[in-house]
Amino acid sequence: MTTTGDQQLVKRINRSVLLRLLRRQDGLSRAQLAALSGLTKSTVSLLVQGLLQDGWLMEGDASNGLGLGRPSTALHIDTLRRGLIGVEVAVDTLRVVSVSLTGQVLCSLEATLVDASPRATCKQVAKLVARIHADLAVRGVQLHGLGVGLPGAFDEATGVLSFAPNLGWRHVDFVPLMTSALTKAGVPTVPVHVQNEADTAALSEYEFTNGATNDSLIFVTCGVGVGAGIVLNDRLFTGVQGMAGEIGHSILQPGGALCSCGRRGCAETFFGERSLAKLADPAQGGQYLGLVLHNLWTTFNPGTIVVGGSSCVRYPAMVDVASQTLAYYAQSAGITPAPTVRTASYGLLAAAVGAAALVLHHELRPMHGRS
Ligand SMILES: [Zn+2]
Repeated sequence: MTTTGDQQLVKRINRSVLLRLLRRQDGLSRAQLAALSGLTKSTVSLLVQGLLQDGWLMEGDASNGLGLGRPSTALHIDTLRRGLIGVEVAVDTLRVVSVSLTGQVLCSLEATLVDASPRATCKQVAKLVARIHADLAVRGVQLHGLGVGLPGAFDEATGVLSFAPNLGWRHVDFVPLMTSALTKAGVPTVPVHVQNEADTAALSEYEFTNGATNDSLIFVTCGVGVGAGIVLNDRLFTGVQGMAGEIGHSILQPGGALCSCGRRGCAETFFGERSLAKLADPAQGGQYLGLVLHNLWTTFNPGTIVVGGSSCVRYPAMVDVASQTLAYYAQSAGITPAPTVRTASYGLLAAAVGAAALVLHHELRPMHGRS
């Protein structure tokens, strides 16, 4: 029997439905998956069979529940057989991690970016990825996919990095450069996904930490650059040209200090790392971070707000000042409780771990375009 394209898509959708149910609630049985998904028991059995064979799922103990009926076997996402690699290209640092399908960090490497030209960057990244991949191979973990977070606006429709001011990149056709460097470094051919590093950082929280308790989240990353990753209605929101969330270049003061982007008075000139270093008390930059968080909150009303990046690690008091500022604005408008702000679960690895999560974000949403 031949399988048509439509049938392939239906199968991928159904597989993603089961995987997403198990990511939300670990240990479900086939019968529970059938009840929750609305698929027939025989369809679920067939799909689970395939997912077990492909290393996505593993079986746990069989239990009788209340002792009635046939024993049912608990199913879990397999954390041992398939792995993801995530890369963060920061302004002067490269971070590469391998993670399991449920987000445990298996191995991580960090290196100073030697030459920031696109070609040299890809070459250095590929060498680090090859080392991480060798570690996966020793563990017997098969590489499933690779994601890269870049410090600029990336357009997924064209695959082009349009603008990364702090790297000096404009209109870089990044994916072919990266894939060819990976091949030269001996890394097996796997899907390569790319996105802005604030977007990937948001996915580290959304895919691995949030537990799908709500379907919206904003992650604000504060380093040399300042950006926001926005998840709305269960999907990364990147805008028409991939520039959504470029809050570092939202203007807080007309005619203010000159920014790396060429405009004046951008948020980055108030609490970008280079500006914070010039303040007598860098924590006071948190007032402007709080102002930006407030504006994001009034625009999107997200379920979760997370802050991360090197400035939040270096100046933890800045996060407190930002939270207080946000609480003050909420109070002034009589809105209670004020939204809470938490710090990144993966710390400085958020963007790299989230780049790995980007692979899952696409695969588990086969109807959302690129996958
Ligand atoms: Zn700017």
